[in-house]
Amino acid sequence: MFRGALRKVCDSMRKISLLGATGSIGRQSLDVIAACGMSVAAITANKSVARLEEQTRQFHPSLAVCMDEAAAADLRVRIADTNTRVASGIEGLVEAATLPEADCVITAVVGNVGLRPTLAALREKKRIALANKETLVCGGELVMRTAREYGAEIIPVDSEHSALFQCLQGSHDHGELKRLILTCSGGPFFGQNREELAGYTKADALKHPTWKMGAKITVDCATLMNKGLEFIEAMRLYSVSPDQVDIAIHRQSIVHSLVEFQDNAILAQLGVPDMRLSIEYALTYPARCPAVVEPLDLFSCPPLEFHRPDYETFTCLKLALQCARRPGTPRVVLNGANEAAVGLFLEDKIRFLEIGELVQYALETVPEGPADTLEQIMEADRAAREAVYSRTR
Ligand code: MG
Repeated sequence: MFRGALRKVCDSMRKISLLGATGSIGRQSLDVIAACGMSVAAITANKSVARLEEQTRQFHPSLAVCMDEAAAADLRVRIADTNTRVASGIEGLVEAATLPEADCVITAVVGNVGLRPTLAALREKKRIALANKETLVCGGELVMRTAREYGAEIIPVDSEHSALFQCLQGSHDHGELKRLILTCSGGPFFGQNREELAGYTKADALKHPTWKMGAKITVDCATLMNKGLEFIEAMRLYSVSPDQVDIAIHRQSIVHSLVEFQDNAILAQLGVPDMRLSIEYALTYPARCPAVVEPLDLFSCPPLEFHRPDYETFTCLKLALQCARRPGTPRVVLNGANEAAVGLFLEDKIRFLEIGELVQYALETVPEGPADTLEQIMEADRAAREAVYSRTR
């Protein structure tokens, strides 16, 4: 009876638009959608046409979007025998985010391309299952303001922020909250010094100890920039000051994050390192539905350990925490410069430590200003990328 009732919650729940369907989070989202018996309104990708075709045939969305025009033209030919319409570019992405039949939008695109469609979806009062942290880092104030104005929900998919969100359920007074503690795996280079980091290549940085993810975020985990972006994301999502966010290195990735309250009680959320749990919760919240992920076996999991981060070795984390205390464009510049630098690193054009050096250079050279509008944010992002490219040309 209880299980039947839960099933009903899941069934009636959601028709999903999935932005970034072919990436790691996108594919895991489709696993969850299929397992929970939900349906897909739209899927989008940059240019992975073969995979998008396969997903279209499996999930029958009414709209499929490629950011890349040539890829969209190819997809149109490939799926001409289906009822799925094809669109392209940022306009297509915005259309996917605002389809009338979709009640939830998963934003699993990489980078700040997610900002415009997220804002458009919020204005249509869609639930956002947020898996695009750059959106909150760059446009945090604008996004949260828009969500409040239109009464739309933002439920985090990032495992740490989902853990915080889960620990905060049942706390109704913001004043009760003392501190958010983000856990961090430490990445593949934990415990090493700058001399050791200097020699590392793309292949070394792409070996993550516990999580399986896309290339950009895996590099961000190696530099610890990912935790810096998540620090800013947490400040935005939960309206807390930088002094109320801490980071603990936790190599086992079992405790996904913790919340400390005024009475010094600490609540934590634990589970196997599998993103599908936080994806499922973002779609079914406030209900909990039958599990998609494996259970955590407390008797066979490794001892749980916590360490302080090394801010002097991992300069990207230090830069991000400095930006967290500065209003306006620095966070946009941090993110834009990092995206550009990681792109160059993934093309083997720069060395590992140069990522942090280029981000620092952009922060020192791009003039500061307000980041209240989409135009101001896009301009700061462009200037940051240009600063990185001009330095490496
Ligand atoms: Mg995370």
